[in-house]
Amino acid sequence: MTERDLIVIGSGPAGLTAAIYAGRADLKPLVIEGFQSGGQLMTTTEVENFPGFAQGITGPELMASLREQALRFGAELISEDVTRVEFSAKQKIVWIDEDRYRAKTVIISTGARANYLGLKNELRLRGRGVSACATCDGFFFKDKTVCVVGGGDSAMEEALFLTRFARKVTIIHRRDELRASKIMADRARDHEKIEFLLDSVVIDVLGKDRVEGVRIRNKKTHKEHTLPVDAMFLGIGHTPNTGLFQSFLEIDDEGYIVTARDPREMTRTSLAGVFACGDVQDSRYRQAITAAGSGCMAALDAERYLEILACSTGG
Ligand code: NAP
Repeated sequence: MTERDLIVIGSGPAGLTAAIYAGRADLKPLVIEGFQSGGQLMTTTEVENFPGFAQGITGPELMASLREQALRFGAELISEDVTRVEFSAKQKIVWIDEDRYRAKTVIISTGARANYLGLKNELRLRGRGVSACATCDGFFFKDKTVCVVGGGDSAMEEALFLTRFARKVTIIHRRDELRASKIMADRARDHEKIEFLLDSVVIDVLGKDRVEGVRIRNKKTHKEHTLPVDAMFLGIGHTPNTGLFQSFLEIDDEGYIVTARDPREMTRTSLAGVFACGDVQDSRYRQAITAAGSGCMAALDAERYLEILACSTGG
């Protein structure tokens, strides 16, 4: 098993930017993209705020372009999920089932996944009207009524997207104030198909084989009622994908990989030679551009680490 300079795990904007930089530095990075490559932007319609695209660009187009750029600089891409890792100061090993890959440095950019409310019937009806991806499933609800849970930008974005298909979209938010940015909140408020149900939580999802409604409780009055809907979309944030790394790296209380302890090596994790970038270590900004920026930093940190390693081992 030859030891590579660098393995990048994950292929969102963070991972692919790291691969572009590492490729240009001639590190010949191996990118283990994940079975569903491209990360969260693959299910995003219009990206309006990525600098350089004045007219906007779709998420999949942006990811395809980043991927092509990484390949152009010599990155090797494998479209599989990493199944296990073993990290120590001495060596970093990454498994895809029975296949083992060894590297001097690893960049983790496994991103985050959508949260669900955790209701029993929500799980049962997943894929039958319960979804966390409007761009994937919105099309199935042409002329139907749907609801979106959440008060952040994701919820507004999902609701606005759903207005293309649905007759009516109700945003259900647990407070009376939205968390979303003003521009997104205003767009949702101004849309004739969107209604808001504030101070409200979903306590059950109703329906036998498909969603037929949601049971709502008002948080202030404690009154309950049923809202008939054909689908419930979740826009309540994300959980970082750190399960594989729990035993090897320091993880914070919310599950994010801890980085930035050393201002000279901002993407370094608690283990030398392992770096993290993008949403897997960022609970605050979580933007495509900040993820890409941290991917660049991780590649530069890995490059510098390899230089120091080469000097210390005389290689
Ligand atoms: P977020 O900003 O953390 O918002 C999550 C929302 O879900 C909050 O309103 C929260 O309520 C609610 N929530 C969380 N857990 C809940 C639960 N168990 N039950 C009911 N409601 C719950 O997450 P996000 O909307 O995914 O956005 C994440 C980041 O990505 C943000 O920085 C955002 O600006 C960015 N983003 C930007 C765009 C864009 O600009 N187009 C689009 C999507 C995301 P509380 O408000 O009460 O906490």
